[in-house]
Amino acid sequence: MKLIFDYTQEQLVDEFLDINEKKFRATQVFEWIYRKNVYSFHEMNNLSLDLRKKLSENYDIDLLKIKEKQVSRDGTIKYLFELKDGGLIESVLMVHDYGRSLCVTSQLGCNMGCRFCASGLLKKQRNLSSGEMVNQVLTVMNDTHDKVTHVVIMGTGEPFDNYNEVMNFVYIINHAKGLAIGARHITVSTCGLIPQMKKFAKEGLQINLAISLHASHDNIRNELMPINKTYPMDELRKAMKDYINATNRRLTIEYILLKGVNDELIHARQLAHYLRGLNVYVNLIPYNAVDEHGYQQSKQSDVAAFKSELLRLKINVTQRKEHGRDIDGACGQLRAKKVGESNGNHR
Ligand code: SAH
Repeated sequence: MKLIFDYTQEQLVDEFLDINEKKFRATQVFEWIYRKNVYSFHEMNNLSLDLRKKLSENYDIDLLKIKEKQVSRDGTIKYLFELKDGGLIESVLMVHDYGRSLCVTSQLGCNMGCRFCASGLLKKQRNLSSGEMVNQVLTVMNDTHDKVTHVVIMGTGEPFDNYNEVMNFVYIINHAKGLAIGARHITVSTCGLIPQMKKFAKEGLQINLAISLHASHDNIRNELMPINKTYPMDELRKAMKDYINATNRRLTIEYILLKGVNDELIHARQLAHYLRGLNVYVNLIPYNAVDEHGYQQSKQSDVAAFKSELLRLKINVTQRKEHGRDIDGACGQLRAKKVGESNGNHR
């Protein structure tokens, strides 16, 4: 069965022509799904009964199965979903004053191997299809009876290691006849895969790009993020500069503060030096401890000192608010734990 959410509106039109159906029928189906939130072909009552039968026999339109759901006092909801093949993925809904933002997973596991991250504890099993990413958004909207206004592709996985499906996903949720989530409300985050950054710069999209930097120097970044050995910081800086020049857009730099590793004043100064002349702002991220890794969250006073040092050096900086503190566990841990349990592997 083909997943109906995998299709952009244009692809669905082509598909319908292939199965000898009229173009406008595809548009109707697209509207049922994305405008009327109907997830059963049988309820699409402007289609003939024959077509409804044909569609339900050939296309999968099921929302994701919710395996687990944790609701935090601040409104954050963590979902553990089960895919059709039994794979488990996590999505997190965060409620901000400006809207409702969903953190979407792009791969089952991840191969980047960042030392501080829970996702990398499980190697990549496969890429998610665009429809499986769309389905995270639809399932959350259906479960909460509310719109998702912002999407960040910052869940498990490296989105640029699944480039085409991620771009298709963005296209579907951004489409005017689809969910119409504004490009400026969509952010894709990468650990810095330079060839894909170059490609992305040429797409002419208004979506935001965030770079997971997390270090001020190659020595530290090599330790934290193995990808730095392939794409070291001077090459990354050049790719960022090219991206900014090509798109005229500001980049976000993500920087997790790890106690005693990258959170001292010397690091703030190195970082400021590295970013000098780039149109960026730094988003300081409080670290969510992952049991297996032994890294710790920086002290509040060190975070404050780091931040003011960047400000003093005229670098734009914001501090990410922690969400769902009381339901805790780092991003990706819900899944890592579940998979561990089902393997009989209690880490
Ligand atoms: N692979 C992509 C997107 C997934 S990670 C990337 O590297 O950007 C999304 C963000 O969460 C990244 O900045 C990542 O470094 C950060 N992150 C990973 N583990 C974390 C943890 N335990 N605590 C806080 N942030 C974490």
